[in-house]
Amino acid sequence: MTTATLSLVATPIGNLEDMTYRAVRILGEVDLIAAEDTRHSLKLLSHFGISKSMTSYFDHNQQFKGERILNTLRQGKSVALISDAGTPCVSDPGYQLVRDAVAEGIPVIPIPGACAAVAALSASGLPSDTFTFAGFPPSRQGKRRSFLAEMSALPGTLLLYEAPHRLVETLQDMREVLGERQVVVARELTKIYEELIRGSVSEVLESVDQGKVRGEVVILVAPGEKPAQETQSLEETLLGLMRDGRLSLKDTAKKAAEITGVSRSEAYAAALKLKNDAEL
Ligand code: SAM
Repeated sequence: MTTATLSLVATPIGNLEDMTYRAVRILGEVDLIAAEDTRHSLKLLSHFGISKSMTSYFDHNQQFKGERILNTLRQGKSVALISDAGTPCVSDPGYQLVRDAVAEGIPVIPIPGACAAVAALSASGLPSDTFTFAGFPPSRQGKRRSFLAEMSALPGTLLLYEAPHRLVETLQDMREVLGERQVVVARELTKIYEELIRGSVSEVLESVDQGKVRGEVVILVAPGEKPAQETQSLEETLLGLMRDGRLSLKDTAKKAAEITGVSRSEAYAAALKLKNDAEL
């Protein structure tokens, strides 16, 4: 590989069989591999028979190492960035380097592969059409609770990374702030002791509380129920306007949407249902 390209190469999150053919080829072809922890990555590279010049790129040397890596790219050389596990830039170093390379017009390409959050979501059984990945929650309880409160009204499934020794306290805060939602704790994905613990927050807490949790975990939280009050007040508003009888169905829905704050389409669907129910 001779043209200046920065490749973001995903590596396995446990099971080495999750390394892709393309990742092996790219890592074997680039001029330089930048790794979060060179000693850790050396084991992975030697497993795949890759011997390359490496440099470290981690949280605390990003500033000056980033500049050196950019210089390598400016010279027309190719660089691959890997983290200790999974996809670089996902709760791992890389964002600043990617941003700076993009700003200089250096081609940046992803070499996709394992990512704990996506793997956990795919097997969770929780809604996957809309989701929010919010990385690691704050470690202090006060900040963690405010962080969870900010997330409470988001639509879709919430995905968090968490350290195993904080799992119980984070679940307890979730129960406190978000209420009794369905959660999945995905532990040790792709490894021997892989498990997906599913249930309400209290049920999951009961099963993880018994022993000290070991290994790596992703926490997934189902979206909150829409408050029953909201639906009721939409219905009540619609019925009031319909009884009044002065507006068309479309205008009734429009007015009800303004009053209750729901979308016009939702109000129209509800109005239509009420009308149809009344006609039965
Ligand atoms: N960049 C990585 C990725 O793409 O998933 C994530 C790196 S982040 C520093 C490490 C966190 O990811 C762990 O603390 C844990 O929350 C999650 N994680 C990584 N590997 C995992 C695994 N095998 N099973 C469950 N969670 C994992």
